Amino acid sequence: VFVTFEGGEGAGKSTQTALFAEALRSAGREAVRLREPGGTAIGEQLRAVVLDPSNGEMAPMCELFVYEAARAQLVSEKIAPALARGAVVLCDRFCDSTVAYQAYGRGLDETAVLRANEAACQGVRPDMTIVLEAPSAASGLCRAEAVAQPDRLEQAGEAFHERVNEAFRVIAAREPDRVRVVAPCDSIEEAARAVFAHLAPLLPE
Ligand code: C5P
Repeated sequence: VFVTFEGGEGAGKSTQTALFAEALRSAGREAVRLREPGGTAIGEQLRAVVLDPSNGEMAPMCELFVYEAARAQLVSEKIAPALARGAVVLCDRFCDSTVAYQAYGRGLDETAVLRANEAACQGVRPDMTIVLEAPSAASGLCRAEAVAQPDRLEQAGEAFHERVNEAFRVIAAREPDRVRVVAPCDSIEEAARAVFAHLAPLLPE
């Protein structure tokens, strides 16, 4: 079973991915938790290239292919083998982030982005995707900045992040069976319960 967690900055993806992985492990299942860009030695190096502000301007098409390169490695090295042995794979960001950030955010042609996604994914597709909504782009960014120094992309501005959040709403409306939206919650526990309610049917005892 392959589950992806998506959403804008500061929406709580990594927290919710970690909590769900813990819940699965305590139920005796193998949970493989990954993040994009990253999750492999090569992918983490590509993450550093794409997020380092000192690299200056990166052409959007270059950015797209760096994300896709990291994804191709992650699929080959981690996701496909884990799915083949029956593990539950939880990935913090995947293809929908590329549509949201590189097409809606950066303005690349969406069809080109979808084709690049398809090539990188090599036939692997999430069974379900949880979109965690941040209360607003501004407060999401605020939370993201409270946790760490803003990276190159977090410096992109509020309008950029509003377009990203809009993209996730469009994607969810387009594929309601796969993509489930969790509205902003008052607490981490409440969000975790909502996530669990969506995912439980995928994971029979
Ligand atoms: O998930 P996390 O917030 O750690 O993502 C790291 C950064 O990568 C974020 O700043 C996000 O804006 C950016 N990103 C991107 N395009 C993607 C995936 C992530 O710009 N396809």
